[in-house]
Parts: sequence; C-alpha cells; structure tokens
Amino acid sequence: MSVSNNKDQTAAQVLKQLFGFEAFRANQQEIIEAILARQDAFVVMPTGGGKSLCYQLPAYMMKGTCMVISPLISLMKDQVDAARAIGLRAAYLNSSLSGVQQADVLSRLTTNRLDLIYVSPERFAMDSFLCALDQIDLCFTAVDEAHCISEWGHDFRPDYLHLSTLVKQFPDVPVTAFTATATQRVQQDIIQRLGLRRPHMVRASFNRPNLYYRVAPKENPEQQILSFIKEHGNEAGIVYRTTRKSVESTTRQLVARGIKARPYHAGLSAERRSENQEAFNRDEVDVIVATIAFGMGIDKSNVRFVLHADLPKNIESYYQETGRAGRDGEPAVCLLLFGRGDIPKIRHFIDQIEDLHERQHAINCLNEMAGYASRNICRRRQLLHYFGETYTPKNCETCDICTDEAEQEDATRDAQIVMSAIARTGERFGITHIVDVIAGANTERIRQLGHDRIKTYGAGKDHDKRHWRRIVDNLLAHELIVQTDEQYPTLRLGEHSSDVLYGRKPFFVLRQKEIRPTPGKRAEEFEYNQELFEALRGLRKRLADEEGVPPFVVFSDRTLHEMACEMPIDQAGLLHISGVGAVKCERYGSLFAESITQFRESHPEVMPGVVKHVEPGAPKASKKRVVKGERLETTWNLFEQGIPLTDIAKQRGRTLGTIVSHLERLAADGKSISFDIDQYVSTEKRLRIEELFATHGVERLAPVVAAGGEGITYDDARLVRLWMNKT
Ligand code: ADP
Ligand code: ZN
Repeated sequence: MSVSNNKDQTAAQVLKQLFGFEAFRANQQEIIEAILARQDAFVVMPTGGGKSLCYQLPAYMMKGTCMVISPLISLMKDQVDAARAIGLRAAYLNSSLSGVQQADVLSRLTTNRLDLIYVSPERFAMDSFLCALDQIDLCFTAVDEAHCISEWGHDFRPDYLHLSTLVKQFPDVPVTAFTATATQRVQQDIIQRLGLRRPHMVRASFNRPNLYYRVAPKENPEQQILSFIKEHGNEAGIVYRTTRKSVESTTRQLVARGIKARPYHAGLSAERRSENQEAFNRDEVDVIVATIAFGMGIDKSNVRFVLHADLPKNIESYYQETGRAGRDGEPAVCLLLFGRGDIPKIRHFIDQIEDLHERQHAINCLNEMAGYASRNICRRRQLLHYFGETYTPKNCETCDICTDEAEQEDATRDAQIVMSAIARTGERFGITHIVDVIAGANTERIRQLGHDRIKTYGAGKDHDKRHWRRIVDNLLAHELIVQTDEQYPTLRLGEHSSDVLYGRKPFFVLRQKEIRPTPGKRAEEFEYNQELFEALRGLRKRLADEEGVPPFVVFSDRTLHEMACEMPIDQAGLLHISGVGAVKCERYGSLFAESITQFRESHPEVMPGVVKHVEPGAPKASKKRVVKGERLETTWNLFEQGIPLTDIAKQRGRTLGTIVSHLERLAADGKSISFDIDQYVSTEKRLRIEELFATHGVERLAPVVAAGGEGITYDDARLVRLWMNKT
C-alpha cells in the first residue's frame, strides 16, 4: 500500500520525514545506496554510529520485507518499539510471544504488511519459519551483531552458525552484516561464514568524539565512585567492577548514600538481572553496577557515564564497554580508576590459559591496557591506534591528557631513588619491600637484611608510601623497571633504566588535578535550559510508561536537549528538532509543545537558543554560534522594514511563534512594536481573545488558549497580547 509512495521519496527525504534527521552520518548514505542497489554489504561501525538506520531506511523504501537477525530476545522488543515509534511497520517473532501473537505476526508477514521482521538465529533455523519466508517478498537480510558468528569474537553464539545457509537458501536476496567489533580476524571470519558475495565494505572510524576519556589513580575506589556519581546528579551511568563481590559491595555503598543503583552479574538469577536492566532502561534507576556480563543486552542510548573501577583486561573490552556511553551522540564521560594492584589479579586468570600462544597474547593485551592508563599520550589517539587508526589532530580536546587535566610532573629524582633502592638491594625484592626501604620503615626484615644501612634507606621520607607506589607504577609502565613473573614478583632494572638513573634523561609522571566530570563534545555546541530539560524528561518518562516502552524510544536525550535549547512551541517548530519525524510529531508533539509553552510563560526571562544541525562525519560547517543579540537584531531589522511577520518567519526558517516571542522580548526592551493584527487574526477572534485576557490576566497564555477552545491557538493569543500591549 504505502510501497509506491516510499519509492518515490529519496533516501534524504525519508531521513527527514521518518527519522527527523537533517543529514546522514558518515558512511550511512553509501551503505544505504549499496543496499538499494541490492548488493551484499559488510559494515563495521562503532556502537552509537547509527547502524540500525542503515537497514531500517532501505527496508522502508524497498518493496517487500527486510529480515533482521538479532541475537538477543531481550533487545528485540525495544528495537521494534523504536522502529514502530517512528512509523515503520515492524514486528518480531520469538518465544516470548504467545501462540496467538505469533500467528498474528506471521499473518502480517505473509500478507506483505511488514517493512521489518526481527528474528533470532534459532527462529531462522525453524522449518515453519523458513516456509513462511518462502512465501514472502524478502528484500534483504540484515545480520545485526554479526560478530556473534565468529568463534574469535567475544560473544560467540553457536546459533549464528545456522546463518551460513542464508545465501544458499535465498540466493537472490542480498545479505548485509553489521558489527561493532573491530579485529581483522573476526571480520574475515564473518564474511567467510556468511558467504557474503563481494560485499560492499565499510569500516567506519572508531573515534567517538562525544566521549571524554580520563584516567585517575585508584586510591579509595568506593569513595571515588561515590563522589564521581554525586557530581553527575541523576544522570544514567554504568560502573564496571571485576568481581561479583565488589559489585555487591559497591551497590550497597551507593544505595546507602541515597543513589538509585542496582547490581548486575552472572550470580544473580535471570529474573533479577532482567529486572534490574529493565529498571535502568526505563530510567527508574540511575546507576547499574555490573561485571562485564552486562553489555550486549543494553540498547539504552542515554548512558552519560561509564566508570571502570577496576582495570579491564584489554583495550578491546575497555573500548566496547565505554562504547555503551553516549550512543545518542550527546556528551558522556568515561573514567578509569587505575591502580597497578589490579594487574596481578588479572594475571592470575591469564596464567591459567593453557595455550602458550593465547596466554602470551593475553599478557601483551594486558600490558597494552596498563600502558594506556599510564602513558602521557592522548587517550583517544591510543585507543584508535589500537584499532589501526591514526588520529592526526594534535589535541583531541576531550581527554584528560589533551585538556591539561593531567599535569606533567618532573619526577626524575624520585625515579632515581626507586631505581637506586632496587639496584642496591640486588634486584631481589618486591614492591612492598622496596617502598618500605625508601620510606625508611622500621621493620624486622629491613634490619635483618641490613637494608637500613644502604644509602637510599629513608631517602623518601618526605612522601607517603602511596606516592612511592605511584612512582613504581609509572616506572613499570615505561618499562624503566620490570617485574618478574614469579609467584613473588621482584623488581629489576629495565633495559633503559641507566638513562634516567644517571640523569641523561628526565622522567615525568602524570598527576591528575582533581576528579571532576568533564563532558565530551557534541557535533555542535549549544546550550540548553536544564530546568526545561528536566521537565521534558519527566514528560518523556510519563509517556513511555503509558506506552510500556523505555523512555529513549519516545525521544533521545539529544532530542530533548535540542528542545530545551530552541524551545519550540508548535509542531512546525518541533519538526526542526533532530529526532522529531512526522509520526512522533503527530503523536507527542502537542504535549511537548504545551510543556515548553508553560515553561516559557513562567520563565519569560529565558530566551530560546539555536541549534545548528551538524552531524559528526557530515562536512564541517563553521563553528560560529549564533548569539542571542544578533538573532533579535535580525528579527528587528526585518520587522522595521515592514515585512509581514509570516514572511519574517519564513525567511528566518523559524516559526511564527518564535518571531512573535522575539518581538515580545524587543517590546520588553522598550522597542515600539506596532503592526496590523487583522492580517493575522480575524476581528471576531481577536475580540474574543481580548475578552479572555481581561478575565484571566495577561501573564499566561495557557488559560486563555484553554478557555478559548479549538479555534484559538497559542500563536493567536501571543499575537493579540503583543498587539494589545502597544495599542
Ligand atoms: P548503533 O546500532 O550503531 O549502536 P544506533 O543505530 O542505535 O547505533 O544509533 C545511535 C543513535 O544515533 C540513535 O539514537 C539514532 O537515532 C541516532 N542516529 C542515527 N543516525 C543518525 C543521523 N543521521 N542523524 C542523527 N542521529 C542519528
Ligand atoms: Zn586527547
């Protein structure tokens, strides 16, 4: 039915009308074009890169139905809800549905009433489902989280192996595969196992510009976690911990301090886990404290921070876990608490790997991770380097190294003290003893060994032991000293230690100024009103609960931020906001417009701002921010020239309501505003509105509009009020 209409539209038109977005993100357009040209495609794109749009949009445009293979039943409902919310005809088939519900979906599928059908790989293997597929017009298949087919991947799912029959069973149907997993080994494996036929290959950059990366020394993790979260108000975030025990204890601590937090780990029952995840999804709890078991099942787009309280075992995991922050493209913070004490704990597990080659690989990965945390190199550059990307800008502006949050401190003398203590005690002792010697501790062992008589004994009395451990950590990270692999590891001098020991080279360590949450960057900076944002967030939550969907399915944080900046008061204004497509505008528009109107009436001093729609990856527009004065002035200039208000609105790409609000502001500033009200409002209506203002007072528009019934809009009332003031 709508099929022919869809085909008449260009992809860009569908992007705007259906999704409410102004521009494609990097790579989206070429992927969509390849799919429309019925080519296989293989796409690697980071989390939050916008993969789902790449198959949803062509599924809408093409004749027939797109089959999406998705690994987790728990995610399917949210994905389908989100697709439906924008007006796509989508459904899922899995065992969570009753027999009747399944029959209903199948009947919609076989009568060509679906753009998208989401199924699990097990479902695809069922004969009954294959039978149904045979009857329908399958336009293409999208394999989501395609790395699940690879045994090298971290989420291998044997069920995905069924998918290798896709190409044989449906030779004429293009197959597309999407993943956020970056390693070459996994990529090759996916392509081969799915049997993709000369696929259109896209490997997007792994840079996540909206994420801010920082590392802080791990000192008192519980306290550090608490103060970090406190500074984040009631934003949503994930705290990763390594063990179930620490997950439980951190959660208890947070809850005791009034933070809405829940645990998530493999030791909890499946019901508890999904209950906690669901509560997080629905913005009912702010913080999930989790082991790495928490991840795949999360699609929540408004995670504003990810805090690793323990060292991850490799950069790949760290990247994937931090990647769960800021999927909506809004700024988010990733904090790692780093203490070298975590290393032996991970080593303990690595040492149990039997395969020698794999074990060495794991050790190298761990060293890389520790290096990331201690090197004085832009964190972003290091992460991207790991994925084989060269990050060229000198300063990323969104990591602690680049923003001078981490200060360089000359620690040459301290390094020499440590190395000298190691050398003078014969390179036979571990960290604790060396630090004791430096600090001049009065222990039995030191006296027995005669270490109280060496030159460096007590040379570091002026600092506490924590300081010396930090110096040791840094020396290890720079391989100036090394730790042996024995059961009781000892410290030795590294190959290049003499450079620093004899003063030929200086030695610097990083010192964090203080933990403060620093947001990442938006594609374009803009300011929004926090109070209005909170109000809109409340409205979003209410609507989401009514409809039984997570709040981010209604609107993303990004969308609410834009609303809280531009403050549109009608549907036309709302359609300017990123993420407001035709269907959502129709469904939710009036409620959001009303809420914004109320806010503006009670806060006449707050002026709306302007958001420039620039997506990451789109050609960069100049960063000029439109200042308020300039905007008012433009409106004033046009108004003075006698240009009708509706034309000013058109010329400026704003709504009439916005222009009138500019004029109200100008009037309040003492400008004389006079115009011909008859051009905009009929005499009859005007008289009625004047009367209503007389009854209800002129402070607020809402009572007048409410009492006026259908015929009187906010624009009408606003215009009349403006006109009344000046006549
Ligand atoms: P992925 O599946 O790659 O992790 P999603 O498909 O969930 O990413 O998209 C992440 C977010 O980006 C979603 O909120 C989505 O609506 C938004 N998004 C996708 N494409 C665009 C675009 N062209 N413009 C603006 N926002 C977009
Ligand atoms: Zn940086």
